[in-house]
Amino acid sequence: MSQTPASLSDFYEMDEVLSDEETMIRDTVATFVAKEWDPIVGDHFEAGTFPMELIPTIADMGLLGMHLDGYGCAGASAMAYGVACRELEAGDSGLRSFVSVQGSLCMFPIWRYGSTEQKEHWLPRMAAGEVIGCFGLTEPDHGSDPASMTTRAVRRGDSWILNGAKRWITNAGLADLAIVWANTDDGFRGFLVPTDSPGFEARKIQNKLSLRASVTGEFYMDDVEVPESMRLPDALSIGAPLSCLSEARFGIAFGAVGVARCCYEQALSYQLERPQFGKPLAGFQISQIKFADMLTDITNANLQAMRLGQLKEQHRLRPHHISMAKRHNCRVAIDTARTARAMMGANGVSTEYAPMRHAANMESVMTYEGTEEIHGLILGQQITNIPAFR
Ligand SMILES: Cc1cc2nc3c(=O)[nH]c(=O)nc-3n(C[C@H](O)[C@H](O)[C@H](O)COP(=O)(O)OP(=O)(O)OC[C@H]3O[C@@H](n4cnc5c(N)ncnc54)[C@H](O)[C@@H]3O)c2cc1C
Repeated sequence: MSQTPASLSDFYEMDEVLSDEETMIRDTVATFVAKEWDPIVGDHFEAGTFPMELIPTIADMGLLGMHLDGYGCAGASAMAYGVACRELEAGDSGLRSFVSVQGSLCMFPIWRYGSTEQKEHWLPRMAAGEVIGCFGLTEPDHGSDPASMTTRAVRRGDSWILNGAKRWITNAGLADLAIVWANTDDGFRGFLVPTDSPGFEARKIQNKLSLRASVTGEFYMDDVEVPESMRLPDALSIGAPLSCLSEARFGIAFGAVGVARCCYEQALSYQLERPQFGKPLAGFQISQIKFADMLTDITNANLQAMRLGQLKEQHRLRPHHISMAKRHNCRVAIDTARTARAMMGANGVSTEYAPMRHAANMESVMTYEGTEEIHGLILGQQITNIPAFR
């Protein structure tokens, strides 16, 4: 059967490696994005809001903590999680961020480092979307170097007293529970902090030009007291929050492919239908070379993501593998979005089409979860065995 131009975006037919269940998850998420997300994303992007009313549907699809086992989580494969992120981010990076933050940055640390009581109490509610989490690592003065954080937790009897500020936190302002990373006399620890705790104050960051269909905020803790039972017992070093970031970056590597694919497909159908100088724009050699480059880049990015999925399922995935794919695939996504935007002329700058929104979003996605430079340095250290961070 001959392929349509759009289906050619999986040029090497890599989705053939997906199981029936993974294919079903892919199709379910893609249908949700097409029917329920795409029609409203432009308005939310302009308003700077996330459509909270979709959270129950997202939860019903099993997407929150979907790659975790037990405690009401779907227990899906790593590949299924990746492919779901790809389809979500084709809709918008804000949508994929919502799912990544809830599952990889908030549920994963409880699942991996929490006590049985913490898991039983929080995870089923978070999988159901009844409790929304945020992950507080970045501070106003400490981003790429989180080990320099100044947020402190001090033990007082059976409690901990937390003081400090976290900034650029996805879902701060709408979250019910904050996963707070703090320094203590014994090193870095993670705490579960209900956002209605006395002394906890969150604010939305209003003037964001990127990832607008996602709420980003800051929070302050002024002598916030939590019991010892709210400390994650097995999170004993900065490696704990970094392992959560690895989980989320894995999703970004797939999500960026969705962004690039969406932009490529929109530019292609636009140029096939729009004539200038007497023929469709897609018929000019300059356009065709651009499409060839875009499709090659998307194919390379997709190959990297799918390989990460295989390595993760074989428990062979290492942080430097994820660094390469996160760095490479974000670059492909932003370049493809910008090229697609230009190929759509003036119409490309409106929210009626996705490329400019995706390009703006990718500025954040390239920055969070480790910037392009930091992932380059991680790779550099892996290649040379010489750390160059300082
Ligand atoms: C929309 C959005 C949502 C976010 N959500 C969250 C969240 O939910 N939770 C959370 O904890 N954080 C979140 N972040 C924060 C994000 O993780 C940080 O912005 C990121 O880690 C970079 O830190 P920074 O912004 O302080 O930049 P900096 O660390 O100040 O870096 C500035 C520039 O310097 C470069 N640089 C830094 N160090 C080096 C070096 N050694 N060598 C060369 N260049 C270097 C960087 O690559 C970058 O280009 C979010 C950010 C955004 C934009």
